[in-house]
Amino acid sequence: MTATVIDGKAVAAAVRERVAVEVADLPEPPGLATVLVGEDPASAVYVRMKREDSAEVGIRSFHHEPAPGEVADLLAELNADRQVNGILLQLPLPAELDDAEMTALIDPRKDVDGLTPLSAGLLLQGKPGLVPCTPAGVMELLAYAGVELEGAEAVVVGRSQLVGKPLAALLLAANATVTHCHSRTRDLAATCRRADVLVAAAGSPGLITADMVGEGATVIDVGTNRTDEGLTGDVDFAAVREVAGAITPVPGGVGPMTRAMLLVNTVAAAKAQLEAVR
Ligand code: NAD
Repeated sequence: MTATVIDGKAVAAAVRERVAVEVADLPEPPGLATVLVGEDPASAVYVRMKREDSAEVGIRSFHHEPAPGEVADLLAELNADRQVNGILLQLPLPAELDDAEMTALIDPRKDVDGLTPLSAGLLLQGKPGLVPCTPAGVMELLAYAGVELEGAEAVVVGRSQLVGKPLAALLLAANATVTHCHSRTRDLAATCRRADVLVAAAGSPGLITADMVGEGATVIDVGTNRTDEGLTGDVDFAAVREVAGAITPVPGGVGPMTRAMLLVNTVAAAKAQLEAVR
């Protein structure tokens, strides 16, 4: 069997089109504040791409590059600014700042990365709220691929706050039977093999080999690893492709969806804020 390759770029383009239509229907363009702290070149590239995506769909972006000591005050200002519907604090922050502590200062109504404690709690309770972009993008890809989640065996490898944990909550909410693996899991291969849906989010290149994948499974590769051979995922794509039913590539799978879901969240936040003042 050769797997269908799920084209994240195409799905993301469709999501962006949908968002552009929603933006055009709003009384005024939504505003997204991007906050970049420190000198991390990868973070600078990510933020630039997010601003370009925003411009493409008609979202206004307000960019800030505060010194570490100014971040808390800036977040308070952005929380109070009515033109700002969403706040993106690019992580990781420089070592002198604590990512979780700073993220928690964001008004949950503007938490377009879905990483504040309130957003995380709402997700666990199965209540509406802003969902982290990468897991939300994975769910969108699964829907696009027509994967039946109800009762399916879903295995998530990785338990970060950013990806693994929220993704497991989303899969559970979609009535999958969810198994959560991590670095201390005893028999990763055997657990992965029973998955109908296998999501790799470990940050370990080539971790998922063909013998760990059940025939016909859907494999979503969140991993983004910079290696000497370029950007690779956590899945041995060439070999797993011969076993799986559907698979996402790296690049061109989950990455574009993460970017697209930020736009979805920004519009959702803007709409909720509009409703609240009506
Ligand atoms: P993280 O380092 O915070 O978490 C990694 C998780 O994987 C941990 O829970 C750890 O227990 C688990 N893990 C690590 N090695 C393992 C192993 N050998 N076996 C089983 N479990 C193992 O990373 P993260 O922020 O969740 O990111 C994971 C990967 O996804 C990284 O490659 C990151 O670059 C990528 N990522 C991609 C996107 C995207 O848009 N495509 C977004 C976010 C993260």
